[in-house]
Amino acid sequence: MVLDQTHKEKALQFLNSKWGHRACVMCATTKWTLGPIVTVTNLQTNGDYNEVNPFLSVFCDNCGNTLFVDTAIAGILP
Ligand SMILES: [Zn+2]
Repeated sequence: MVLDQTHKEKALQFLNSKWGHRACVMCATTKWTLGPIVTVTNLQTNGDYNEVNPFLSVFCDNCGNTLFVDTAIAGILP
């Protein structure tokens, strides 16, 4: 899911309050870009899955290191 303006504003507000201007752990640059919201499916031991959790992707413009932020904790999605 591509972020609309409301989602971008919520994401930036959360990340600025929690992360500040942190450098990438892989390349030490500070150029981050908001990516799309992606989902992760919880796979059970029997092969079934029962939940789909949305995460905001945030990636480093220099090296591609990508982090995922829980959208509920970040207040981006309910
Ligand atoms: Zn990097």
